[in-house]
Amino acid sequence: MIDRGEALRKLALILARFSGLAPLARPFASGIGAILMLHRVTAHPQKPNGVNRHLNIAPHFLDIVIADMKRSGYVFVSIDEAIDRIVARKHTEKFATITADDAYRDNLTEALPVLEKHETPITIYVAPSLINGTSDLWWELVEDIVAARDYIYLPTADGRVRLDCSTPSRKCESNGFLFDYLTQKVREEEQRDIVRGLAASVGVDYEQPRRDTLMTWEEVRTVAGHPLATIGAHTVNHYNLKRLSEEKAYGEMAESAEILNFELGETPRHLAYPYGYATAVCKREVRLAKAAGFISAVTTRHGVLRAEHAEHLHALPRISVNGRYQNLGHIRTMLSGLTTPLANSGKMLVTV
Ligand SMILES: [Zn+2]
Repeated sequence: MIDRGEALRKLALILARFSGLAPLARPFASGIGAILMLHRVTAHPQKPNGVNRHLNIAPHFLDIVIADMKRSGYVFVSIDEAIDRIVARKHTEKFATITADDAYRDNLTEALPVLEKHETPITIYVAPSLINGTSDLWWELVEDIVAARDYIYLPTADGRVRLDCSTPSRKCESNGFLFDYLTQKVREEEQRDIVRGLAASVGVDYEQPRRDTLMTWEEVRTVAGHPLATIGAHTVNHYNLKRLSEEKAYGEMAESAEILNFELGETPRHLAYPYGYATAVCKREVRLAKAAGFISAVTTRHGVLRAEHAEHLHALPRISVNGRYQNLGHIRTMLSGLTTPLANSGKMLVTV
């Protein structure tokens, strides 16, 4: 989480108009490779029309994306090898590495069989508190809370606010309101308690999204032992690091590595910043990720990899394989590099 789809949706529309340019742009703009970003991979989404549906793709789509990329010359490597290739500046062939955030159970049950078929490595970024249940998948919970009632009452510093959730469009607005309120108006550390309070007030079980969709530690250990899998860190609590003090932001990164070492017997070398967009990660977080000992860190900024990323291993962009656009044409266009400057104010080299 979270890949707010608006920018990509706009891009896709632009691309539909200019898609003829992608094959022409590819030799110049496609860079040295790409890091693909997944969240959920399931053929059976529980909420196929929900506000978080963009976080899911079907396993079949993953299958055809990998096959298509291989046909066009991409070699799939582990994140360790991807970093080695960037650092060595040996770019004789295009490479790709697959990553998935948050440790959804379907990564194990539905994505791994596809990856095994293609012998394609994956890195799964784990936030220990989401697995322990000491933090929640709050964006999923908000969706459940809004779905549960026609009206909900949000206690704020300025008094109680009534949110109209009586129709699908009102539910959508209330979801947006709550998202903005929780990510901008309250402290990051208060967000989860507010959502748990709301869940209790409308009879929603705050543990259900975790139980239903995330791996247990046992399952994380199973993935960690798989020859195609690498476990990376996704901080302890999945907070927006930019909204924390420097000391707390550093602790979120460093302690997640310690906890994963305790649970899995190995210290993770790679990090994914929670949310990963411009208001969640910037130069300070990049400096802290280096200081915490990670050899790489990925954002959710949109872009292909370029040779110059050798100097920016802790600010690597990704290509979101996005549930709203399960279309091979869009993936090809994004990999052509054409959308990289479109999404980044004209920049070809995307860092933070
Ligand atoms: Zn996440």
